[in-house]
Amino acid sequence: MATLESLSKDSFSLHQNGQLKNDSGKENKGGYKLSAEIKMDIEKLYEAVPHLSKFFFIEDKIGEGTFSSVYLATAHLKSGKVEKFALKHLIPTSHPLRIAGELQCLTVAGGEDNVMGVKYCFRKDDHVVIVMSYLEHDSFLDLLSSMKLEEVREYMYNLLKALRRIHHFGIIHRDIKPSNFLYNGRLKRYALVDFGLAQGTPDTKIELLKVVKAEDQQRSCLKNKSTTSSGNQLPNSITTSKPLVQHSADKMHIKRPCPPMQAKPGKGESSVPRSVFGERNMNVRSTGIFEGTSVKKVKQNESSEIYIGKWDIVNPTRSTKTADISSRKILVAKRKVMPSKGASSCLIRKPNMSQSNLTCDCYATDRICSVCLSRRQQVAPRAGTPGFRAPEVLMKCPHQTSAIDMWSAGVVFLSLLSARYPFFKASDDLTALAQIMTIRGSKETIHAAKLIGKAVSCSKECPKLDLRTLCERLRGTHDLNKRKSNQPVDDSLTSGTGTAPDAKDDKTKNITSLSQTQEVQNQPRKEKESIQWNADLKSKVKASDVKNWGDVSDLAYDLLDKLLDLNPVTRITAEKALKHPFFEGM
Ligand code: ADP
Ligand code: MG
Ligand code: ZN
Repeated sequence: MATLESLSKDSFSLHQNGQLKNDSGKENKGGYKLSAEIKMDIEKLYEAVPHLSKFFFIEDKIGEGTFSSVYLATAHLKSGKVEKFALKHLIPTSHPLRIAGELQCLTVAGGEDNVMGVKYCFRKDDHVVIVMSYLEHDSFLDLLSSMKLEEVREYMYNLLKALRRIHHFGIIHRDIKPSNFLYNGRLKRYALVDFGLAQGTPDTKIELLKVVKAEDQQRSCLKNKSTTSSGNQLPNSITTSKPLVQHSADKMHIKRPCPPMQAKPGKGESSVPRSVFGERNMNVRSTGIFEGTSVKKVKQNESSEIYIGKWDIVNPTRSTKTADISSRKILVAKRKVMPSKGASSCLIRKPNMSQSNLTCDCYATDRICSVCLSRRQQVAPRAGTPGFRAPEVLMKCPHQTSAIDMWSAGVVFLSLLSARYPFFKASDDLTALAQIMTIRGSKETIHAAKLIGKAVSCSKECPKLDLRTLCERLRGTHDLNKRKSNQPVDDSLTSGTGTAPDAKDDKTKNITSLSQTQEVQNQPRKEKESIQWNADLKSKVKASDVKNWGDVSDLAYDLLDKLLDLNPVTRITAEKALKHPFFEGM
């Protein structure tokens, strides 16, 4: 990539269109009123990059994250055609290397195989706007309730196609999730977007990602000396001497603060909590001691132990501390998993023990010894969204591969098969890991951790769940299938209290759904009243979806199992996944 201007390599050309400038207070083309806030943002963008107004009429803001805002704009082409574009305005504090890296991913790998390409790029001072074709897309939550199995098959196939392409170029996307994979069901069009967190494999074909990687590593070394983790992928300051984006990067060589790592949910994301897991981050509290139970401050040091309290996994978020504690007690009691000291908790450690004469004496206890407190912090890439992070990312494995994207694709598939989104809902890595253990099994997770040099221990064993049973229970097709195959139906599961899918206490409901699944597998639950079932979802399923969802082939679950392989080395690649028999005939 020589200059930003050279990005307009294709036939794209616009003619000046300044008169279309969005005067504040006016309605947009859709006829609906924009909020004052959005209007202001649009005005500010026109001010920051005045050139935009010559070509584009910015209609609306369609996405906002920590690192960018995305706008829908129209432009009159020379041909007289009006075309829609997505304008991604990167936050001015973005590192120039990151910006250039994102652009290079789009220009080199984009434009084919469901990977979004770039049309044009504008820059004024430290404001950069990436112009892409606009792909109108469906909200994932809407898709979940309407998608038929065949459509899910197509969706996954197309997602894997995009992954095969970027992995071929040595790009690890690092943030695969529905809001970054746009899908228009009507047009059957797909687009993988958002390379803002992308990293290169050691043999990446994206030159700038090599630089980004080197910078990240340098930063990691620096960070090893610090004691706290921001998890931010962006270097704190810019020291590069060469402008990577010619004539445009020079002004960006400014020391800037790191923006927070976690992106705000995108459009259509997480406004309705449908997670299977309720989640509480106990680890944010300074004390780390709750009612004599075993959840502890998380130690993110190298060769350290990390506790995850069992009820971190299952407890819904409550508004008060008292409620937290009492509900936790109930849950624990119900499950007969009364934690003794150190029980019902998971522990990760790296069996390093470099301090030969100092011995840790806090292993499997509820405190952190001074040896552990003084350990160096372990740093590994961890950009992305907690619920989609692969176990090796959560365990801070320093050598990560494109397999992390495959795991995330597996989580998307899990959502589609179970009709739950987001499936894993965790605000921190340890909660996310505990949630994974609940589904994939604690023994299995411990084993996978060993393979990457980490020691995980869990005092209470979580059996690996059968993926079909899990998805069918959550989707509500389990009993239908039993009826079809003349197996006895567990009526307690069909006589739930029936909370509406969008009910406020959705989290609790979802947790109940999960515990139900677990318990059905392990020890069928006796008490009817303790079971809440999503009656709405069930009736929807009964009415229309039996024909689609009553017959999910074993191949689907086999592929899911291979995507959610805890071991990144054996986890299926995009290339292989596309050849999986589940996609036969595609
Ligand atoms: P961020 O880094 O802020 O997450 P993204 O590139 O993921 O930025 O874009 C945020 C949102 O903007 C996407 O989830 C999508 O809804 C919308 N968006 C991005 N690019 C396009 C596009 N080319 N066409 C349509 N919508 C887009
Ligand atoms: Mg995004
Ligand atoms: Zn210790």
